[in-house]
Amino acid sequence: MSKKTQVFAANLYKLSPPPHSLQSGIGVSSQLMIDFRSDTVTRPTPGMLEAMMKAPVGDDVFGEDPTINQLESMSAELFGMEAAIFCPSGTMTNQIAIKCHTQPGDEVICEKLSHIYQYEGGGIAFNSGASVRLIDGDRGRITAAQVRENINPDDVHKPVSTLVSLENTGNRGGGSCYNFSDIQEIKEVCLQNKMKLHLDGARLFNALVAKNETCKQYGEVFDSISICLSKGLGTPVGSVLIGTRDTIKKARRIRKIFGGGMRQAGYLAAAGIYALENHVARLADDHRHAQQIKTALSGKDFVGEILPVETNIVIFEVKGRYTAASLAALLKEQGIYVMAISPKQIRIVVHLDIRPEDVQRTIDTINTL
Ligand SMILES: *Cc1c(COP(=O)(O)O)cnc(C)c1O
Repeated sequence: MSKKTQVFAANLYKLSPPPHSLQSGIGVSSQLMIDFRSDTVTRPTPGMLEAMMKAPVGDDVFGEDPTINQLESMSAELFGMEAAIFCPSGTMTNQIAIKCHTQPGDEVICEKLSHIYQYEGGGIAFNSGASVRLIDGDRGRITAAQVRENINPDDVHKPVSTLVSLENTGNRGGGSCYNFSDIQEIKEVCLQNKMKLHLDGARLFNALVAKNETCKQYGEVFDSISICLSKGLGTPVGSVLIGTRDTIKKARRIRKIFGGGMRQAGYLAAAGIYALENHVARLADDHRHAQQIKTALSGKDFVGEILPVETNIVIFEVKGRYTAASLAALLKEQGIYVMAISPKQIRIVVHLDIRPEDVQRTIDTINTL
């Protein structure tokens, strides 16, 4: 272990007691791992921790936490929408939105790889009693024509199509971004058919930075938007659901029923305010790092198809002498954590805690394989 690595490890340890090993059973050496498994693994920066410690707080179920109130009004304003609500997770903001926009028996239209369908534990059925119409899209993205084809006719045999949910960036699409004009076309179809349009924007800020778009553009077309603060933006906890005053009023009731009413959670909201002010523009660094890793992988004899890298995610196919699992295990021995997301695919997610020297070490390691 180099002196520099030791100092880095010591600083990390100081910043985040108790050590990761206590929570995950991974072992103390995990402090030295380069962790590309997800952009959720970040620890708060010193500046963020300071903002959290200074936060004025109150009981948010009484509406009395000034820092949460500030985060909610700031988020609504950012998107040019009427209101917002702070929640513990992106799963909760998505599930609350679906509950707000549907009745039991309705149908939600989304892409087949959507987080709301694949990774929220069947919550659409469990929480909302709604069915799902899955669309076979392009790297997680769907088109207005596909939405139109999948809206049920007004027929007593059919579930009522009431909601379209999009994901931007698309997680399983490898951080894919929509063209905004495609979203506008989907919005038109929704308006013509009296359907609501929700955005799972867990990584929306990555898309905004990559495509040079604005929050306000999105606020104009969506009925509700969920953003995650604990992904690329680097907070320990939290997501925000943004929408109309009526939707958010309803959302507040549903959040309570889901058990998501928190008390002095302003300490967490302070991290969110800090992240929105300080960690958005820097997402471009993550995108550059992802490109560098992609370039290192390109043309290697054990690498098959690499999905186009548009933001902070690199998904590639493993072929030849490795399987996704064996390559992930080999990289782990070299101090690099990646995720095998299928027997043949590995996902690398770049984030706030990945430094340029980590990217270089990763590239050097790839070149030895
Ligand atoms: C992470 C993520 C969420 C929310 O996940 P939580 O872990 O519940 O915060 C929602 N949608 C997408 C696309 C995600 O990647």
